[in-house]
Amino acid sequence: MAIKYLLDNPVEGNIFTQKYQSTIEWRNGKFVSDEPVKSGGQDTGPDPYTLLLSAHASCTLATLRMYIDRKGWDIPHIAVKANMYQTTKDEKLITVIDRDINFLQPVTDEQREKLTDIAKACPVSKILEGEIVVRTYTYNNSDTPKHINYSNGEVTVVWKPDVCKHSGRCVTGLPGVFDVNKHPWINMQGADTNAIVEQVNKCPTGALSFYKNTPGEANTAENGNSPA
Ligand code: SF4
Repeated sequence: MAIKYLLDNPVEGNIFTQKYQSTIEWRNGKFVSDEPVKSGGQDTGPDPYTLLLSAHASCTLATLRMYIDRKGWDIPHIAVKANMYQTTKDEKLITVIDRDINFLQPVTDEQREKLTDIAKACPVSKILEGEIVVRTYTYNNSDTPKHINYSNGEVTVVWKPDVCKHSGRCVTGLPGVFDVNKHPWINMQGADTNAIVEQVNKCPTGALSFYKNTPGEANTAENGNSPA
């Protein structure tokens, strides 16, 4: 089954030599993250723990606001405080997040109970309390002259095997096109051009790229090694 990322484009972070300021780019801008002075940073932006808790707090608030508005309840102001601590149990690291929600005006017991349930079910709560798998891939830029082309007549996908780091992201993202058990491993008939281009743009290494064919260009599919 093809995976669907929650974000259309990934967030991208970059760090250079200034300790420990990083720039995070998101779909509509950039912000700076840093480490506190006690950890060797300059505290010029929120640290990663603060960002994690901020994600939880803002998701809680947005989810509550949507529900309250839908119900038409008169609760104009909600505040959330979040912090966390860590402990170990049976040699396993346990992280406990404490989230305090204040409605800042009287609410009935029934409303408070319902809103507590809604907060518990906010999307970031579900992520944090569900099973999380972090897949980590490492890359470096390298020059490579070698490339293999695959075309459906409309678009040509260019694969650079020396750059491909075998993350398998294309295979899980669009299995009808990218299948390392087939030869050639890229089947340009497995999806429409838009879906192929969208998946090519998600290749994290630049191993996949594409160009639009000019009318009359040969419909070529050169065979090459698969990334497996
Ligand atoms: S082509 Fe890109 S997405 Fe596919 S396996 Fe290689 S690096 Fe991963």
